[in-house]
Amino acid sequence: MADIIKLLPDHVANQIAAGEVVQRPASVVKELLENAIDAQSNSIKLIVKDGGKSLVQVVDDGMGMSTTDARLSFERHATSKIKKAEDLFNLHTKGFRGEALASIAAIAHVEMQTRSAGEEVGTRLRIEGSEVVSQEVCVTPKGTSLSVKNLFFNIPARRNFLKSNQVELRHIMDEFHRVALAHPAITFHFYNNGSELFNLPKSTYRRRIVHIFGTRANAKLVPVEEETNVIKIQGFIHKPEFAKKSRGEQFFFVNHRFIKSPYLHHAVVSAFEGLIKTDTYPGYFLYLEVDPSSIDINIHPTKTEVKFDDEHTLYAILRSTIKHSLGQFNIIPALDFDH
Ligand code: ADP
Ligand code: MG
Repeated sequence: MADIIKLLPDHVANQIAAGEVVQRPASVVKELLENAIDAQSNSIKLIVKDGGKSLVQVVDDGMGMSTTDARLSFERHATSKIKKAEDLFNLHTKGFRGEALASIAAIAHVEMQTRSAGEEVGTRLRIEGSEVVSQEVCVTPKGTSLSVKNLFFNIPARRNFLKSNQVELRHIMDEFHRVALAHPAITFHFYNNGSELFNLPKSTYRRRIVHIFGTRANAKLVPVEEETNVIKIQGFIHKPEFAKKSRGEQFFFVNHRFIKSPYLHHAVVSAFEGLIKTDTYPGYFLYLEVDPSSIDINIHPTKTEVKFDDEHTLYAILRSTIKHSLGQFNIIPALDFDH
């Protein structure tokens, strides 16, 4: 039989890989915001148009890139964040897979402008469907601006799969909330179709929550605090009377990264036992800090699932910490649920 196996061309491999990282405009927002944070930015601007379908742009004032790095950043597995496999088990950055920019550039029209502090002029690079269209010297502030237009222009099936602008914007808002809540020390601006949705000054955890969810959020919050030799917990839970039927304001952050954890969620909910109706959920904003070597983030491309070394201990500490906070605020069981 004749040989039939062929290596896929790079641009096809990139398109396939892109499917893992980029499901919708909100995925682009997440990756670009995380890159801006990893670049040690103080101020980050997010600009979107038409639910991110026509434009997602992130402008940061971070470390920027040299011309060579600007070009390399779009190669698959090109990263400045890890050097060897062991680094995976001691991560201090959001990124490490070196796949986001390569993936995004494979399925959109991308323009990057970047300048590092040491350089007088910057680099402007345009890439469309993995093809470098132009590269030139430019005058630009220190930092990086990355704009992503016409997402999925070369994969019509995926483009058609996108929901309405409003729904896509909703997903972008969710990602924006997660990132902004995790990083109150960074200033964020967010514009949609030319109007400002958020202007978040550098702040504390509490004030960041209030800036995002409105002043009425403040009265709902009960502080949570604990520090043991395995975990530091900070943040807030909602008072039980604000428990809702719908899920929504439930946030876990581990080492400043938003994560989903049904297991830890259960720990929180069980601490509210007897205080809320069984079909309602408490709101929470919980910031956990653990030794980076005690977690594994590399289990899924979007990095929202984390494996902890000792889940059971964390569960127990979290549950008792929350019970303690509820107790301190004199919130005792036997609420009258009829009111
Ligand atoms: P990763 O973040 O996993 O390293 P990316 O594809 O997201 O992979 O980015 C590749 C590299 O490009 C990063 O490691 C970083 O060196 C550089 N980079 C990307 N975005 C920025 C930015 N906003 N500022 C400075 N450098 C950046
Ligand atoms: Mg990245």
